[in-house]
Amino acid sequence: MVKEDKIDRCSICIGKELDRFFNGNTAFARCNSCGFIQKEAAENDIKQNFEDITTHYSFDGTENIYDYLDTETYMGAEKKVLDIGCWDGSLINHIKGDWIKYGVEPNPFAAKKAIRNGVRIYQDQLHNINFKNEQSDLILLNDVIEHLVDPLNDLSRLPELLRPEGKVAIITGNTESIGCRLFKRFWYYYHYKSHISFFNTSNIELLISKIGIRTEKITRVAHHSANIKFLVNRIAKYKYRKIDEGVSGLSQEHNSLPRALVLLSRVLVHRDHMIVTGKKA
Ligand SMILES: [Zn+2]
Repeated sequence: MVKEDKIDRCSICIGKELDRFFNGNTAFARCNSCGFIQKEAAENDIKQNFEDITTHYSFDGTENIYDYLDTETYMGAEKKVLDIGCWDGSLINHIKGDWIKYGVEPNPFAAKKAIRNGVRIYQDQLHNINFKNEQSDLILLNDVIEHLVDPLNDLSRLPELLRPEGKVAIITGNTESIGCRLFKRFWYYYHYKSHISFFNTSNIELLISKIGIRTEKITRVAHHSANIKFLVNRIAKYKYRKIDEGVSGLSQEHNSLPRALVLLSRVLVHRDHMIVTGKKA
């Protein structure tokens, strides 16, 4: 879904008082009421999210996010996990135990790899998929919602995709983090062209409550790429230039800012992501 270029109200709390800041020519609108920040995204950036990326990003489990999820406690006879934006399936394949694993992945390059990795794939954008009453015990959205132009609308499908007592786990950047507060518009996370929506702990709670998910816990974490082992692995596997194009794989930064500051903000980040777990209300 492509939104009008000019944002005139907050898409989470519908507040109309917005402040703007700029990275080069790119405008970011910050809601005065809830703090939600949305980039006035160009259509090309959105297209890049879903179609054009072919980097070799793969989750290597250096920080196992499942440590936060109590996945062993799910008791259903046939447990299902749905990873929305599953990329090559490497993250979902770190889940332990006997799970049926589904993924949503609109990127054809990644979807093909995920299928090879044993994940049952819906290859489309979430709002286009007919799940035929398929419900899961756990839904993951790892590094996904910051790419959405209309997160409230896109995520509104989650409750119908969850079994009663089903859980959601969302991982994204946190604009309340020290990294963001310190570096402000130079925070590296703003600099990915494909990052569009930026949350803090309270507006993400508001977002998921609006769609019928009750927040259970918010844990501040480092992104799984923000550790030495991950970086060493990357460097061992690929030329540095490839890494520089985007550790997250979703690559391409705005070029209009002091490079050194942006890089510094990446090195100095401290738990600038959050894992939000919630239950169907
Ligand atoms: Zn707002």
